[in-house]
Amino acid sequence: MKAAIYHEPMKITTEEVPVPKIGDADILVRVRACGICGSDLHMYRLGLFTEALCRSSEGGLIPGHEFAGEVADVGKDVEGIEVGDRVVALTFGGMAEYVPITPALLGFNVYKVPEEVGWVEAATTEPLANSLHATQLGAPSQGQNVMIFGAGIIGLGVVQSIGVMGFDLNKVIMVDVSDNRLAMAKDLGATDVVNAAKEDPHQRALELTGEVPVTILQGLVTSPAVDVIYDCVGYIQERPEAPVIQQALMIAREYGKVVVHGVFEAPVSLELMPMVLKHVHVLGSYGFVPDDAVRALELMRAGEVDRMKLVSHEYPIAEAAEAFAVQCRAESSVKVVVIP
Ligand SMILES: [Zn+2]
Repeated sequence: MKAAIYHEPMKITTEEVPVPKIGDADILVRVRACGICGSDLHMYRLGLFTEALCRSSEGGLIPGHEFAGEVADVGKDVEGIEVGDRVVALTFGGMAEYVPITPALLGFNVYKVPEEVGWVEAATTEPLANSLHATQLGAPSQGQNVMIFGAGIIGLGVVQSIGVMGFDLNKVIMVDVSDNRLAMAKDLGATDVVNAAKEDPHQRALELTGEVPVTILQGLVTSPAVDVIYDCVGYIQERPEAPVIQQALMIAREYGKVVVHGVFEAPVSLELMPMVLKHVHVLGSYGFVPDDAVRALELMRAGEVDRMKLVSHEYPIAEAAEAFAVQCRAESSVKVVVIP
């Protein structure tokens, strides 16, 4: 079968490798679409998290965990899954014609895809479930102001999640450095956008949400009135500015929340007194629970979210190297999907 193989930073090739064998508790999925995740780029650019993001196979390290496909083979002990079922599954190595799910547990690491949801859209289930999960952790309430850093698939998914969860917010402000992605955020329901390469997010937050006092400092210190901040960037070593979490701690209002979903490429040094003085709640968010995956698929089936808007490019697996190169160009791409 054909598979994308990671060799070293900036080097991914498409190779012919053996079709994986499965055991009695496993299924084999014929992959029909596999997205490139932001986390895959940390591996691609710097060689980080390689073991966690790839399936180690005879043919080498196969990346890809945002995929959908049909069940090609089922081990004899597997329950509730049959050959031909359309599924999304949680594992690595999906950027190949076939991927084994070991073991396959329906409703835990395998979910059936409704007929109405196409392969490419279904391949965005995993990131949408992540966005739903992070959005719920932040749990903004009516009339509040929300700020999202990073208009990638997760941040844009947070905008979509806010749209379907009915929070009835005041401001939903997206911050990114790509005008293309900011336009997408606006299209999906962000009320305001800030290009951090040209404007200061803190200053813009003050203008858009107003200025509120920090009680314990008796009016000596103020902050923007931002209630919940989603950090969908993390820390990217090559960016010159302070990590987003630092900006978020400065911007969050008293008792505000900062939900951190982004990946950190290295340890960072932070000024934490704003967190202490303002009682800011910092919440980490990674992955999702089964309810989020079920909800993601149902939202797509019902047409309540349009994930195809986020898919900017599709490449055949023979062009996996080009697909990764294009995914790295944030100005011109959002989600790149590989078709095995
Ligand atoms: Zn991912």
